[in-house]
Amino acid sequence: MKYVFGPVPSRRLGQSLGIDPIPLKTCNWNCVYCQLGRTMPLTLERGEYAPRHELLAEVEQALAACQPGEIDWATFVGSGEPTLHSGLGWMIRQVKAHTDLPVAVITNGSLLFLPEVRDELLAADAVLPTLDAGNAWLYRQINRAAPRFTFERLIEGIEMFRKVFTGRLWIETMLVKGMNDTAEALGEIALVLERLQPDHVHITLPIRPPAEAWVRLSDEAGVRRAEQILGKIASVSVPSESEARATRVGDLAETVLSIVTRHPMREAELLTLLNRWSADEVRQALQDLAGRHQVRAVDRDGLAFWSAAAMSFHTSRGDKK
Ligand code: SF4
Repeated sequence: MKYVFGPVPSRRLGQSLGIDPIPLKTCNWNCVYCQLGRTMPLTLERGEYAPRHELLAEVEQALAACQPGEIDWATFVGSGEPTLHSGLGWMIRQVKAHTDLPVAVITNGSLLFLPEVRDELLAADAVLPTLDAGNAWLYRQINRAAPRFTFERLIEGIEMFRKVFTGRLWIETMLVKGMNDTAEALGEIALVLERLQPDHVHITLPIRPPAEAWVRLSDEAGVRRAEQILGKIASVSVPSESEARATRVGDLAETVLSIVTRHPMREAELLTLLNRWSADEVRQALQDLAGRHQVRAVDRDGLAFWSAAAMSFHTSRGDKK
């Protein structure tokens, strides 16, 4: 399948059927921690990136292949910013017409200042925008958005959406050591959260190879600080390594490729996740994909992560790998 993957385990959404309407790294942000590598170039315009009817046919096929109770959420997410797809509202409504599953959209939130995007997302049951910074300077340092997508527009967009959205608004905050995990930075994020009134805040960590090699995970003290400061405004959940099982949809090589394209993983993690196949089968699939230049191993602090070959990672501020 080209546009649908999983179900895969998600800390926020249980077993989530991933729906990816955007080609790899089609995004208007270039986050320093992005696990998909650097955004080159930034994409500014909305468009019909995935053919909507083809995508919907895949969703129907995946839903038919799963047992009742096997999926908790259908989630628009993946290898770029899903609100850049101009048919997102139509696709959300169509998915909801085909299933009783709740539909979530994981988004950077940057297009919510557009009335049409807010209207489209009203059809979802949960929307998960990103908030990594409480001021414009830090937002530019971390998210490196295209200039028209300013911090003020991000906050105003989420705030306007909150006023009309009756579903769940869950903010996602990626904690980067020394950038947004200080008491000052977290205090500023908390002030913004007061305006946004989210139902929940998910704190996440850049545990996969980030676009910039100098990015470091916030340590335990930083996570505790975030929990304490942000927790005064909203309920907060903190990271834990989720362990779950991928479900067999499509063949093994296709499954491996769909996972590492969106979520670079160590080989041991892949073996655990794909334990419906033998370790030899998974290793062989990785070698076959590498031989076809579809995946590659990327070094991160001495650990090898498998990722899509097309991803671009940098080992230092200047060196491309
Ligand atoms: S983390 Fe998300 S918003 Fe940031 S660059 Fe990557 S795909 Fe875009």
